[in-house]
Amino acid sequence: MQESAKLDQTMSEQWHFHPQLPVGFYPFFEWPPNLKNWLSFVWNYWLQKSDRTIFLALSFFTFYLFMPSMEAMSKLASDWILMVAVRDLALFLIVTGGLHWWFYMRKGQGIEFKFDTQPELKKNKLFSFNDHIYDNMFYSIVSGLPVWIGFEVLLLWSFASGSIEIYQFSDGWIWFCLWFPLLQIWQSFHFYWWHRFLHIPFFYKLFHAVHHRNINPGPWSGFSMHPVEHILFMSSLLIHFVIPSHPLHVLYHLYWLVLGTVSTHSGYEMIWLKGKNLLTVGSFFHHIHHRYFNCNYGNPEIPLDLWFGSYHDGSEEATKKMHGKFI
Ligand SMILES: [Zn+2]
Ligand SMILES: [Zn+2]
Repeated sequence: MQESAKLDQTMSEQWHFHPQLPVGFYPFFEWPPNLKNWLSFVWNYWLQKSDRTIFLALSFFTFYLFMPSMEAMSKLASDWILMVAVRDLALFLIVTGGLHWWFYMRKGQGIEFKFDTQPELKKNKLFSFNDHIYDNMFYSIVSGLPVWIGFEVLLLWSFASGSIEIYQFSDGWIWFCLWFPLLQIWQSFHFYWWHRFLHIPFFYKLFHAVHHRNINPGPWSGFSMHPVEHILFMSSLLIHFVIPSHPLHVLYHLYWLVLGTVSTHSGYEMIWLKGKNLLTVGSFFHHIHHRYFNCNYGNPEIPLDLWFGSYHDGSEEATKKMHGKFI
């Protein structure tokens, strides 16, 4: 029996598929703390194959195999910057193109585990080149990629030139390891606030509407943003100027931001292959935001939406309650 069938009793008719409702938050801020939930989270997200462990492995892979020398990076020079740019472009195209190919070109799993089967508006004069996908590719590559590379070069150069001290594993392994999961909590906090700010109608029209032309997102939607939004999005990386970090933390942070946003916008809960969940990729929590706009501004790492009254748990009741309530 397929997993979607098992969930039938709790399905909301507003979606083709959704995970178990209510779509919840991760256990970091539960009160009273529940050790069982913490251990289950660590087991499921850090000790098994997950987006987090893949991004972590990818950070080590890049650091040891595709990183210019510290000596080269101590000065701003075109050769190593070009290498970083080519490497990032290749990685972005492989991940985004790969997910798009599997879900939307090869239609590898049809609509199995797809949140919303309504067709996305495709050909329209609203979009660059009259095409939604090309438009998303344009914003991602022409605006997003240079911002990504810019932040990465700034940080690597700062480490290599001694402007930021590198926190080594030998300086304290506990902090070195703990900073990886804590980065996500920081990023979630940072994301909620600038995202909420961009939903103020004036700024929404100016900057955020570009991203929200994706009502039913796919992989190319994730990093498709206005340049100002790209800068705000990536600015969570500036934390490395103040919190002791290693370049591995920066790479992980970059992949979490960029490749993470691609996968969480894929429109599907998981990559389903031969009757098995190969990898959970989607974020139903954020998919709800794309359909209804004025809820779920953050993500499940910190329950800021719950604390500030903009939480949508995915149910039909929440949709009824929500209408007209939030900014
Ligand atoms: Zn989005
Ligand atoms: Zn938004």
